[in-house]
Amino acid sequence: MSTSLASRPVPRPGILEIAPYVGGKSTAKGGGKVYKLSSNESPLGANPKAVAAANAISSQLELYPDGGATALREAIGKAYGLSPDRIVCGCGSDELLHLLAMGYLGAGDEGLYSQYGFLVYPIAIKSFGATPVVAPEVNYTVDVDAMIARITPKTRIVFLANPSNPTGTYLPFDEVKRLHKALPSNVLLVLDAAYAEYVRNNDYESGIELVSTSDNVVMTRTFSKIHGLANLRIGWMYGPDHVVDVLNRIRGPFNLAGAGLAAGVASIEDREFISKAADYNEEWLPKLSDAIRATGLDVTPSVCNFILIHFPDVDGKRAIDADAFLQDRGIIVRRLEAYGLNNSLRMTIGTPEANLATIAALREFMK
Ligand SMILES: *Cc1c(COP(=O)(O)O)cnc(C)c1O
Repeated sequence: MSTSLASRPVPRPGILEIAPYVGGKSTAKGGGKVYKLSSNESPLGANPKAVAAANAISSQLELYPDGGATALREAIGKAYGLSPDRIVCGCGSDELLHLLAMGYLGAGDEGLYSQYGFLVYPIAIKSFGATPVVAPEVNYTVDVDAMIARITPKTRIVFLANPSNPTGTYLPFDEVKRLHKALPSNVLLVLDAAYAEYVRNNDYESGIELVSTSDNVVMTRTFSKIHGLANLRIGWMYGPDHVVDVLNRIRGPFNLAGAGLAAGVASIEDREFISKAADYNEEWLPKLSDAIRATGLDVTPSVCNFILIHFPDVDGKRAIDADAFLQDRGIIVRRLEAYGLNNSLRMTIGTPEANLATIAALREFMK
């Protein structure tokens, strides 16, 4: 294929194989109240202190932000007992995932992830001409043996969301360590811990210690979920010096806006707000899961701020029918065809009002 003879600019191989990411819907029919439960956003909103910090930036919009994200890295370091030198901030953790792919993947390389892994992984892998390799899951849970079986001499990155979206399931940390042990030392393990703050199971760890003690593991985190700051696009990565160095070379010099930097500092310093959000989730997760199961639907046990609901393969009762039924009542949930989950929907835990409205609607739908 000679691109020099093409009559118009041609992107690099792989780019046109990318299915563009489609986010959760934000509008519904009905004209009444709309409950957006499609993007795992926080029902508690942002910390008022974070809102105030972001607002304060509006008087200096002509100034470039601190390209080194110094104050935010220091605040994160303090909150987690980490060296700020080993933290990189990103325009959402999505940017960090892309930067990791840019730094470590090229044509001929393979990026490995699991069947229901986050849709951003194949996008990042294909963006740099590498080949996505997918390991099947068991019971909507990452299967470490299947992952290990798909490691080849071409594998360069393994992306693991723990816990995972859209399934809501997680791997006990012993399993993550088993996966890490099986990786050649030149393969980078990316632990995407976007929902770590919600998990209260004793056998879960986000991966901080594994990063500290390894040369080939990084952990990414986000302010989009429990911090309620998705709009400001703030993510961070903790990694070994040499990976941090690579990302600092290739990232945009001012990749976070000042409002995000300021809000991130205010939010991470307020541990009480975060634990309140986790308590709220812990209250509603079993309540909602049980109530949905009581309608006759199947629910995958979740440790996150969302629930994966499976529908019967019966005319009029499939996920697509439920989605239309819910939309008519102003309830927007996430369709999952892009993950190959054609008969499931993902519902974010919302405000009490939104949760009760959804339970009532699903009850009526299943009658
Ligand atoms: C929401 C989410 C993220 C975070 O994305 P941001 O770019 O930080 O908003 C990362 N990984 C997974 C699995 C997610 O669900």
